[in-house]
Amino acid sequence: MGRFKLKCLKCGREYGQEFRLNCENDDAFIRAEYFEKKLELRSQPGIGKFHSWLPVQKELTTNAGPITYKSEALARELGLSNLYIGFSGYWPEKEAFTKTCSFKELEAHPTMQLLKETGGKAIVLASAGNTGRAFAHVSALTGIDVYIVVPDSGISKLWLPEEPTESIHLISMSPGNDYTDAINLAGRIAKLPGMVSEGGARNVARRDGMGTVMLDAAITIGKLPDHYFQAVGSGTGGISAWEAAIRLRADGRFGQKLPKLQLAQNFPFVPMYNAWQEKRREIIPELDMKDAKKQIEETYATVLTNRAPPYGVTGGLYDALVDTDGIMYAITKEEALEAKALFESLEGIDILSPSAVAAASLLKAVETGKVSKDETILLNIAGGGYKRLKEDLTPFQISPVATAKNPDVPLEELNI
Ligand SMILES: *Cc1c(COP(=O)(O)O)cnc(C)c1O
Ligand SMILES: [Zn+2]
Repeated sequence: MGRFKLKCLKCGREYGQEFRLNCENDDAFIRAEYFEKKLELRSQPGIGKFHSWLPVQKELTTNAGPITYKSEALARELGLSNLYIGFSGYWPEKEAFTKTCSFKELEAHPTMQLLKETGGKAIVLASAGNTGRAFAHVSALTGIDVYIVVPDSGISKLWLPEEPTESIHLISMSPGNDYTDAINLAGRIAKLPGMVSEGGARNVARRDGMGTVMLDAAITIGKLPDHYFQAVGSGTGGISAWEAAIRLRADGRFGQKLPKLQLAQNFPFVPMYNAWQEKRREIIPELDMKDAKKQIEETYATVLTNRAPPYGVTGGLYDALVDTDGIMYAITKEEALEAKALFESLEGIDILSPSAVAAASLLKAVETGKVSKDETILLNIAGGGYKRLKEDLTPFQISPVATAKNPDVPLEELNI
């Protein structure tokens, strides 16, 4: 029995349950349409609770999953009466057991399960660090082969809470290559026989896995929040929150107003912020990310530095911002560090650099009146608890099996 179908957002063409990234007629996003129209929680400890709206047949049994709680200390400091924190990471005191410490793990579990259920054997992806760690972890748990391409700046982020397995194939890139170079090399490796491309934002399992942050918040709060704050590099998390909110709206029990997306990038690399300031659907590289590579080297949270984000595509971030009357922020390193210190001291958990950017955007929104005191706000702390994790275990570093000089290197040379 099927649980969902896939539908193109432009031409409406429908597809069955398969690992599909593209419509055959155009380049628009495809979206899952679930046959369960009401969210019915399953008795699973983590993300598997949200089985209604995950594109897999078998319920996920992992205890990794999003948590949501009402902030007291930070809320008081900001004068907010309904601030909720969505947290993805390790914080056992709050029942948060996502051991790779970011919401990328929320996409890795359903993606690997969908791959398995559709007969795929090996998945290929590029990562700035956090996605690679999440997929390596699920590979270690399931034995499914993953090929992960990571720029030099991301290699230190490739650790695991358990011993690495042979199923993990990590390919590093020499200094000078950035995340987008990694995407280009991964695209070439994915064309080899037997390989399946993870697909980034085009991957429905990725989006619906990340969307569980919004589902968990709506269940905890009892309704859709008025505002959703997150730091974005590709914007996939923002698109996912929007899509999840659309499903919750159709469910009927959570209200009819979509949360306003309030999304942040960090200076100097802020292409989506620049394009959205002018309400442009297209990112113009010469205007929006001049000297991109240099900008990226100077950027604090490098996880947020995708040079080819799914912004203008049908069903992408521009559409999500239009539909929710969204706002984008550009945050300085100083603002991020200040917000990080404030958040950590008040809420009592360490957060990753992109989440510091997200927290800084909330401070800015409060200062500039982009939220009112009594509105319901969801701050997505998409990564945290790494320091907390190290109190409980010693992470293992993953060793690369090959290093690529550039994205065009002959694949035989890599010997993977
Ligand atoms: C990947 C990541 C982001 C950015 O996510 P998008 O894919 O751009 O939505 C933000 N925070 C953390 C912790 C991340 O790992
Ligand atoms: Zn189509």
